[in-house]
Amino acid sequence: MDDPDIRESTAGPSAGPFGGPLLFSLAHPDDESFSCGGTIVKAVAAGAPVTVISATRGERGESAIPAITTPQTLAAVRDQELRTAMAGLGVTDVRFLGYWDSGMDGTPENDDPRAFVQAPQEDVVTRLVVQVRGLRPAVVITFGPEGGYGHPDHIAIHHATVDAVTQSAQAGHRPELGPPWTVDALYYTATPRDLLLKFAEKNEGPFRHLSMEARQRLGVREEDITTRIDITDRLRQKAAAVLAHASQVGDPTRFDLDAAGERRHWRMLDHEHFVRARLPWEPASGDLADPLLKLDQFP
Ligand SMILES: [Zn+2]
Repeated sequence: MDDPDIRESTAGPSAGPFGGPLLFSLAHPDDESFSCGGTIVKAVAAGAPVTVISATRGERGESAIPAITTPQTLAAVRDQELRTAMAGLGVTDVRFLGYWDSGMDGTPENDDPRAFVQAPQEDVVTRLVVQVRGLRPAVVITFGPEGGYGHPDHIAIHHATVDAVTQSAQAGHRPELGPPWTVDALYYTATPRDLLLKFAEKNEGPFRHLSMEARQRLGVREEDITTRIDITDRLRQKAAAVLAHASQVGDPTRFDLDAAGERRHWRMLDHEHFVRARLPWEPASGDLADPLLKLDQFP
C-alpha cells in the first residue's frame, strides 16, 4: 500500500497539491482558525481535501456571550461555531473525538473523568489511528509538544497524534483499525514565542492564568520554526473564521481588520508558522521535504 505509484492512482485527480488530504488534529474549536486559518483556506484554494478533527467541543472555556450560552449548551454552540468557521474557509469535513475540554492547567476541571487529559492515551491513539488509516492523509498537522501556550489538551493531542501517525504506518499493528498508512509529512503548529509574549503582556484570554515561569516556555523559538506560510492575502478570511467562534473571541472589534489599531495587530499575523517534525522512518538529520511550502505558489 505504500508504493507511491499505487498511492497516486488510488488518490485520484481530486487529491490536490499534496497527493492526498490535509488532516488537522487539534483540541478545541478555534485552535484551527487561530493557528492555521490562513493555511487552511490556502490549502482549499489549492484543491487539497481538508479534514479538521477536534478532540473536544470546548466545553470548559469561559463563554464570551453568556447571554446565549449556558454550561449545558456551550458544547453544542462551539460545535456549530467550528462548522461555521470551517464552512467559511471551504471545509465541510469536521470531526470530533468526543472528549471533554480539560480546562486550563491546574483547574479542578482537569480531574473530571470525562476530561480529555483523563482519557487513557491508548484510547485516544486508537481513535486517531482509525481516522488516519481511514482518511489516508498526505500531511498531518497538530500542536507541538509545548502545546502553543501550554494548554493540557493541546499537549495531549500532540502526543496522541504523533503516536497515531507512527502506529498507523506499522504494517502489523492492529489490523482491525484499517490498512496501514504512511503520511508524507507531520507538522506542528508553531506560534513564535516573541509574538505570544506580546499577547501575554496584555494579560488577556488564556494568558492571564500563566505564571512567569510558564511564559518563558510559550510558543516556539524563531530558530526552531521550519516553515512559514504567507497568508497576507487571506487575512480577511482568517479573521472571519476566528470571528465565527463568537463564544470564544469576546469583543469582535479586536479582530476588525478595518479598525486602524487592529490593522497593526493583524499585520503581526500575516504568516502562519510550523515545525516540520521528523518521523521515526525519516533520516535522523538533514533537510526534510516540506510539502506545505507548495501553498506559497497559491495566493
Ligand atoms: Zn485550544
